[in-house]
Amino acid sequence: MELWYSEFQTKDLSLSARVKETLYVGKSDFQEIAVLDTFEFGRMLALDGVFQTSIFDEFIYHEMIAHVPMFVHPNPRNVLIIGGGDGGTAREVVRHPGVERVEMVEIDGAVVDVCKKFLPEISTVLINGHDKFHLKIGDGIDHMAQAEDNYDVIIVDCSDPIGPGEGLFTSKFYADCYRALKADGLFVQQTESPFYHQSLLKRLRKDIENIFPITRTYLAQIPLYPGGTHCFTVGSKKYDPLAVDTATLPDLKTRYWNKELQKSAFALPTFVQELFK
Ligand code: SAM
Repeated sequence: MELWYSEFQTKDLSLSARVKETLYVGKSDFQEIAVLDTFEFGRMLALDGVFQTSIFDEFIYHEMIAHVPMFVHPNPRNVLIIGGGDGGTAREVVRHPGVERVEMVEIDGAVVDVCKKFLPEISTVLINGHDKFHLKIGDGIDHMAQAEDNYDVIIVDCSDPIGPGEGLFTSKFYADCYRALKADGLFVQQTESPFYHQSLLKRLRKDIENIFPITRTYLAQIPLYPGGTHCFTVGSKKYDPLAVDTATLPDLKTRYWNKELQKSAFALPTFVQELFK
């Protein structure tokens, strides 16, 4: 009998992957965690029935959420990741030689443990450790409420705005991020699908614009996520992502991010521009 795992992306739309093997299903204090080995995506992580990452396309999300903001800032030394329990964002951030400290605040230690066991290609930094990397198991919302102004870059690698991630999509959280950044700091958040989460995207973009002097949204093509196109939104105190001199960027061995995309990812289709008017 064929086994399929479906994510209901809207109440009328689902993405289903045919499963070779169910590797793990369990309930943590925060969410249901599943790891499935699938035919099209390879091993994949789902939280509360929502696909988070897969061996097939994880490089796209992790390279784009990490390298784009890291190259907007000319010299990021102190970096904070909120969420990011699979370790993929940390893996990319520690590749930047100027970085001195990477803190990651993930609410669910069970996600970290499960990813180390079943997605070791993504969780390299979690498995092997890294002298610059520091993991704290705790709520990113509480962490930001108390954080001082010492970060250059904050990367919000969160799940959807339901369950433990809900408070990561609020004006209060964005104001806390603003306060916790140095005078020239910037933050980025994964901000869902421009097709299926339009009201959320419009609202959070306004909330970020009300707090940060510079707000920009960029896109990446990610087959796992609803509609295959995913948004990321930057709030910046000083540096404009559109002003990066890409010719000065170092060469980095990547599979999706490149110097051309560093800026062109911010070129938005008209229907997305119109959401932000
Ligand atoms: N790439 C993914 C996506 O866009 O679907 C995100 C992956 S990562 C696994 C998301 C992580 O955010 C999860 O491990 C979840 O436990 C964590 N998370 C959710 N709410 C959180 C909170 N309030 N504080 C810290 N981490 C949180």
